[in-house]
Amino acid sequence: MPMMDSQRLAGQFAASTMRILILGGTTEASALAQRLAGDTRFEATLSLAGRTSSPRVQPLPTRVGGFGGVAGLTQYLREHEIEAVVDATHPYADQMSANAVAACKQCNVPLASLTRAQWQSMPGDKWQTVSSPAKAAAALGPTPRRVFLSLGRLDLHAFAAAPRHHYVARIIDPPEQAELPPDLRFIQARGPFDLAAERKLLIDETIEAIVSKNSGGSATYPKIAAARELGLPVIMIERPYKAAGELVGSPDEAIAWLARHGALSRRGV
Ligand code: NAP
Repeated sequence: MPMMDSQRLAGQFAASTMRILILGGTTEASALAQRLAGDTRFEATLSLAGRTSSPRVQPLPTRVGGFGGVAGLTQYLREHEIEAVVDATHPYADQMSANAVAACKQCNVPLASLTRAQWQSMPGDKWQTVSSPAKAAAALGPTPRRVFLSLGRLDLHAFAAAPRHHYVARIIDPPEQAELPPDLRFIQARGPFDLAAERKLLIDETIEAIVSKNSGGSATYPKIAAARELGLPVIMIERPYKAAGELVGSPDEAIAWLARHGALSRRGV
């Protein structure tokens, strides 16, 4: 191919590549990153909060750490000429989602929110729903119990207010905060977890109650299934309200949404 033609093609290619930002930290964000990595229509950057010291290796350019609120994200979107944002953050990461809605509105950048369905209780489940980790600690009651905490490390300090219980907390990184319940043992592990291992953990630790978020998805569901089998109560912390853009239900739907917006913006719509 003559030099001129290949340069022109490269220019057209660059012009039609859409710059996108994925707000990540979930299995779905990683799955979306995998699909986008090989897709020449998009130039995507993945953003992580930096909650774990050794996040999974990602196939896309990745930035780590907060943007600095709505103002910081707005500046980032402008500086990097981002044309679309996919919010694929955790169902409990409500602040990041609120910031994404506000910043995308200010910059007139389309926003899709990749949501994960909640777990629904089934016959045999003994769920008690509460609105926060502090309420979960209170719901454990006055009698000392053996409690499995399946929460983020930043949520553990709430259980310092209920020091009479024995806690086993599964976390990815050890927590830094000083204020923790006195009788707390850590298990460091990263999902997915399987049913047999979850059942064994609950039996071996003689767990009497589980505290969990309603994360949804399959990676951390086996503990809920094991609790049902063993007749154990689950104190379920309900999801916060999460501001959202256009809802998409899967990484494939997110890609279809991106492709649609890419085509619209090329037509100047
Ligand atoms: P958050 O409360 O929504 O976010 C707090 C701040 O962290 C945001 O305002 C933002 O800082 C920064 N941030 C969050 N997600 C980001 C991302 N993808 N890229 C860049 N910055 C990001 O969320 P959170 O504090 O991370 O977590 C809230 C709850 O979600 C916790 O209960 C946690 O256990 C759960 N969770 C979070 C993650 C995760 O990857 N974030 C994963 C699993 C579970 P700026 O305002 O400075 O931009």
